[in-house]
Amino acid sequence: MNNFVLTALRRDVLEANRAIPAAGLATLTWGNVSGVDRDRGVYVIKPSGVPYDELGPEHLVVVDLESGSVVAGDLRPSVDSETHRRLYTAFPSIGGITHTHSTYAVAFAQARRDIPVLGTTHADAFNGPIRCTPDLTEAQCATQYEYNTGQAIVDLFEAFGDDPLEVAAALVASHGPFVWGRTATESLKQAVICEAVAQMALHTLALNPSTTAPPHLLARHFTRKHGSGAYYGNPDAAAQPSTR
Ligand SMILES: [Zn+2]
Repeated sequence: MNNFVLTALRRDVLEANRAIPAAGLATLTWGNVSGVDRDRGVYVIKPSGVPYDELGPEHLVVVDLESGSVVAGDLRPSVDSETHRRLYTAFPSIGGITHTHSTYAVAFAQARRDIPVLGTTHADAFNGPIRCTPDLTEAQCATQYEYNTGQAIVDLFEAFGDDPLEVAAALVASHGPFVWGRTATESLKQAVICEAVAQMALHTLALNPSTTAPPHLLARHFTRKHGSGAYYGNPDAAAQPSTR
């Protein structure tokens, strides 16, 4: 494997992994980010068990998308590597994945509840609830556990017909969130938003367990930021403040 051609992807994955603790999404070494190079059929992922502040580009592991074999790197990949691989092979439109055990998203996963769309903060980023998988069975845990974790998410999207780029996240029951995007950096940003909307939803449900938001309002918020009719932001002014 020619490492040179993966330089930009390695940088993107490294920076996204290093951003996890600063974003308040992880304790110790929990969590991992990967990014895929579809042309070369590989993804770059955090190694298993290396602290974020010691993580360098040389530690990242390059894995073959088809076989799951390590093709470059001296360390073992994240134990969740096979979950990432299953999501990349099932969802061709995605380019990066972030997995964390962030507190509020995990609370919903442990309660085995979807994160409902209760307002515009959620609707700006996710065009529907962030769904929670059923529990993995004993057989699913006994062999190919990490691959089966990814499969549980894939099954969820097939069951509901969700577009993985419109709802770029899922909760695995009794475990936590897997979040993705077009790039590793975008998946990290979506993971931050997932955690924020989980926190807001928990407080909202405590105040009013039966609250809902008007569907037309939610649809308006998603479509003004995403898709062909989007008009949010200023493409030529990247530094523009983003407050609404
Ligand atoms: Zn995990």
